[in-house]
Amino acid sequence: MTATPSIDAFAAAPLFPLFADLHGRAVLVVGGGTVARRKVEALLEAGAQVSLGAPEVQPALRQLIERGRLQHRRGEFEPAWLDDAWLVVAASNAAALNRKVADAATARGIFVNVVDDIDASSFHVPARVRRGRLQIAVSSGGAAPVLARRLRERLEAELPESLENLAELFARERARIGRRFPRTGERRRFFERLLDGALPKLLQAGDAEGARAAFERALAAGAPEAKPGSVALVGAGPGDPGLLTLKALRALQDADVILHDRLIGTGILDMARRDAERIDVGKRVGENHDATQARIHALMLHHARASRRVVRLQGGDPLVFGRGGEELEFLRAHGIAYSVIPGITAALGSAAAAGIALTDRRHAHSVTLLAARGSETPDWRALAAPHQTLAVYMGVGELESLSESLIQHGRGADTPCVLVENASLPDERKFAGTLAGLPALARAQGVRAPALLIVGEVAAQAQRALRVERCRGGDVSIAQAA
Ligand code: SAH
Repeated sequence: MTATPSIDAFAAAPLFPLFADLHGRAVLVVGGGTVARRKVEALLEAGAQVSLGAPEVQPALRQLIERGRLQHRRGEFEPAWLDDAWLVVAASNAAALNRKVADAATARGIFVNVVDDIDASSFHVPARVRRGRLQIAVSSGGAAPVLARRLRERLEAELPESLENLAELFARERARIGRRFPRTGERRRFFERLLDGALPKLLQAGDAEGARAAFERALAAGAPEAKPGSVALVGAGPGDPGLLTLKALRALQDADVILHDRLIGTGILDMARRDAERIDVGKRVGENHDATQARIHALMLHHARASRRVVRLQGGDPLVFGRGGEELEFLRAHGIAYSVIPGITAALGSAAAAGIALTDRRHAHSVTLLAARGSETPDWRALAAPHQTLAVYMGVGELESLSESLIQHGRGADTPCVLVENASLPDERKFAGTLAGLPALARAQGVRAPALLIVGEVAAQAQRALRVERCRGGDVSIAQAA
């Protein structure tokens, strides 16, 4: 006998949602009691050809059999019952029998649901909210049925009954709408305008006549003009999707095309419209960055001119380090409509992660955002002055020279520093030390990009909050997040 693969076997993998077309397909239900009856009813409603295998069946099931709605296989389960089945539900009250059915079905590659036995099931039946053809399925993968049920109840209460009529109307008129608007873009704009208009409210108020008329008017009026394409430079923040702004989220959900940096995580990209085209335009080490930038410009132009809503998605803020300025200039020069949606820049995300007030008035009168690598030599003397905070980007490879230059120009060797790696992400790490000890600290801890360095008296706050360890050399005090 083949062991039934358990749904829990891949604990981290979510179930794949699936709406199955069972119309006219053979489904076997094993069991003759109340649970089996409920399953049979739902399957019949979906148009399945149900056969019921059980020695005895309860009266309601018997009636269905007598009325010819259901085929009865009388007796004990035998694998031959599975011969033509697409799907199996084991709903008897005997756990051992259910397992046997599940094993036999799985051995033949047939999906099987065992009532109240997640481990033996290869598919679940979700809690659902139904408005006619429109269905919302809720599943916790068996982990928290009560939570799923709660959610279902909330949706049930919130979604108007009239959604059923709306879905019905669209289904009825599908062919006409298709003929009137053969192109997908047009059709989508038509539906969007319809859904934003009076029609849903008329249906909700029970005014079927008014709704019908509104629909006919909309159909006669044609599709709204395609809006000219546009580009939004959007800041994705330091990584945690929770740190996106509402405006950024809206832009992602409206986007047709997303040109994103390499480091933008799936957590954020998952928030985007499902059918948005995602293009990784990240710069890679060893690549010609000017060529990559030229490609970004060309893609923005191409898609905006094709009337698409383009989101240029960058980590942090789109105009802080990176080439947002050049992108804006390019868009202006080519007459493309654009907007900028700011994001939480890495300095702010890292300061928050480390619990540091960058401009704490007791210790700093200013904060400077500094790129460790750049074409010009910075004014080290100015940067080395006390009572100011430096937030250094792209600095992991430059810590040695940075620390040296600042100390050489007069910044105290014991100036507090904090390094934040992957700020706001699950693998965030924070280290506190001193300016002189910084390179050794980063080496010892294997700090890697993306990391942000905060230099200045204000960083002492983080030193106190983080656990302090002694470095091998003994001359550097290292602190690491507990
Ligand atoms: N526009 C971005 C910065 C791009 S430069 C912003 O506003 O944040 C890339 C540098 O940003 C990285 O080398 C690193 O120094 C910093 N950075 C980006 N994300 C970070 C994060 N999650 N944690 C720490 N530093 C980060």
